[in-house]
Amino acid sequence: MIQGSMFADVIIDISIDKLDRPFTYRIPDRLSGIICVGSRVRIPFGGGNKEKKGYVTALKDRCDLEDSKIKDILGLVDGSISAEERSFEIAAYIKDTYGGTLSQALKAVIPVKAKVKPVEHKTLVRKMPVDELKALADEAFRLKRTAKERLLRALIEDERIPVSFVTRQLNVSGSTVNSIIKCGAATLESDTEYRKPTVSEIQNSKSISLNSEQETVVNAIGEDMDAGKAGTYLIHGITGSGKTEVYLRLAEKTVLNKKQVIFLIPEIALTYQTLARFYSKFGDRVSVLNSSMSSGEKFDQCERAKAGDIDIIIGPRSALFTPFNDIGLIIMDEEHEPSYKSENTPKYHAREVARKICELSGAALVMGSATPSLESYYRAERGDIRLFELKERASGGSLPQTEIIDLRAELTSGNRSMFSRRLKTLMDEAITSGDQIMLFLNRRGFSGQLSCRECGKVVKCTHCDVPMSVHTGNKLICHYCGDTAPKPSLCPSCGSKYLAAIKAGTEAVEERINKMYPNVKTLRMDKDTTSAKGSYDKILSSFAEGEAQILIGTQMIVKGHDFPNVTLVGILAADLSLGVPDYRASERTFQLLTQACGRAGRGEKPGYSIIQTYQPEHYAILTSAAQDYKKFYDEEMAYRETAGYPPAVHMLAIQLFGPDEKKTSSLALELSDVIKSKGANRILGPAPANIGKVMDYYRFVIYIKNADMDELTSVRNVCEEFLTNKIMNQMYVQFDLDPLNLI
Ligand code: ADP
Ligand code: ZN
Ligand code: ZN
Repeated sequence: MIQGSMFADVIIDISIDKLDRPFTYRIPDRLSGIICVGSRVRIPFGGGNKEKKGYVTALKDRCDLEDSKIKDILGLVDGSISAEERSFEIAAYIKDTYGGTLSQALKAVIPVKAKVKPVEHKTLVRKMPVDELKALADEAFRLKRTAKERLLRALIEDERIPVSFVTRQLNVSGSTVNSIIKCGAATLESDTEYRKPTVSEIQNSKSISLNSEQETVVNAIGEDMDAGKAGTYLIHGITGSGKTEVYLRLAEKTVLNKKQVIFLIPEIALTYQTLARFYSKFGDRVSVLNSSMSSGEKFDQCERAKAGDIDIIIGPRSALFTPFNDIGLIIMDEEHEPSYKSENTPKYHAREVARKICELSGAALVMGSATPSLESYYRAERGDIRLFELKERASGGSLPQTEIIDLRAELTSGNRSMFSRRLKTLMDEAITSGDQIMLFLNRRGFSGQLSCRECGKVVKCTHCDVPMSVHTGNKLICHYCGDTAPKPSLCPSCGSKYLAAIKAGTEAVEERINKMYPNVKTLRMDKDTTSAKGSYDKILSSFAEGEAQILIGTQMIVKGHDFPNVTLVGILAADLSLGVPDYRASERTFQLLTQACGRAGRGEKPGYSIIQTYQPEHYAILTSAAQDYKKFYDEEMAYRETAGYPPAVHMLAIQLFGPDEKKTSSLALELSDVIKSKGANRILGPAPANIGKVMDYYRFVIYIKNADMDELTSVRNVCEEFLTNKIMNQMYVQFDLDPLNLI
């Protein structure tokens, strides 16, 4: 007879404070060999031996505790608890694949039961003309009411200020805020969650019959589902080719089969239009998760899912962990988006975890994009994933005609403006015929940073290796550590007094446009104009309603709404995103340019896109202008293969953090020697990370490449083992498998 293990480590009830400590129980004979890792068990807990439920996390033959202190497992939890069991397996998978501890993985996977009040984000909004505010501020100054004065001056500079900023950074009390509201200087606005569409909006959504391309996809995947062999699918479809319509049909089929659907979207891409289409089909059986919800609100949604009150959840990557009992379909829209990868340990990628969940539940994974990630297309090429192509725009209309403009030639012929002659001509025409224009600058810019015009340096945080931003009330703030400092009058590096805030690129473009076309209304969308909640939607919808003729923005404007009146898209400096020192720079540029170009010509009129660049011969530019994904893929994949980057190989980044630069760097060296001694080759570093210091912690990074993921897993295990005995002096480590950026 094979002896089962005698003891089991059990994690009791998944409540956050107990997660980190498993308790050891004895396995009674009758359960020996039956209980395994992942089993759900009933156990006595605490002084009163109250019966609780728990998960077995490990089995062992020995236990150091005194015999009398160990209690017996009472039994297995009855019945199927598929959602919970699945969560546990997923957590184990995440831990094994991405590193970190089991409890970190469980925290990512299991909704936290929090008895917290929903967090309300409030914003103070100016309601009085600036002149009147100035008078009030002067009066407050005379009366020595300094907090009140501070707040009023802040309101003069900024129309909207988050209340958290008012209380924390400006150090203004609630009663002062109230007095300002009472006198009518400002009001409070609180955030609302995604608004549900009204009935009339739902009725407006037309019923559509699929075209043949769409039908092929729906039928093929539907047949696999019916045959019980649902797999992974990639829909490569140009923007507007009707992917969402395909998702809707597949979701409908799944729900009819009494199974549930998880629809993943990158947060920012959830448009009101998409939402309305889902509501019109599924009504109250749909629920939306978003990242601004409190954990309590998220937990409520999970409870509804568990109770069977909803069939479809729409949300960002964490929606993957909705505890549905019988998942039939996971859809991943815009599957190439970087926001699908978690930024915190465990740094899992939603695509991989979705695959695992589908495997466990026998569900289909349907991914879609106009510009698929190299990872997915690579798998499709190798036959791991079934590929479908949608090549036509579903609602008619055609792709815009795209021209590449060589900015070097513009310079040679004496045009120093940010607009090429060709773009200027097309803008003139569009304006005259009353069409709309989008101008796109593919870089955030350095808005709000303070730079010295003598030595060229920017003012950086003393604790972090990043520039500080200028804020209300002549203060500098660091967005990494929250530290504030008074705005210096002299350059900290050279002592010069010529310090000036850098303007965002988009702001400069807008100023230029306003000079060129004084009678044309413009809207600007970037980090600065969208910091207040809801402003993103507001700008897009006022552009959609024709309140402005030109929309200027960063990459935010390439997603979301359809604008049928846009006939011209101008990409002002396509190279900006190519200049980033990262192995994904070309892929990002290709994606951005393809999407941006695709914004024109959505309606009846044909569209034009102009790509202005200093590198007109670069393949990312040429292929995006031609909307030729396959050609881009071939060139880019050849580069990844030669240079050894994902998806040609897997890459593990190990980051060490510590408050002492020397100690951290020498531990990193020691670690890389250990890795080498275990036979790993293709090691890069250790080297300081791109951002070498945050919050007074220095960062060093080591990369290891290997085509075989198991090899990397064993390297990671070696590192974890080595570091458990070594890590001290507040140093710590983070692993990142297949990082989306060089760190
Ligand atoms: P994607 O998700 O690929 O960008 P959508 O599904 O949003 O595309 O479709 C783009 C537009 O075409 C939408 O307005 C949609 O209503 C419309 N559409 C989709 N499929 C069809 C179809 N078969 N016939 C007519 N219009 C369609
Ligand atoms: Zn200087
Ligand atoms: Zn800082």
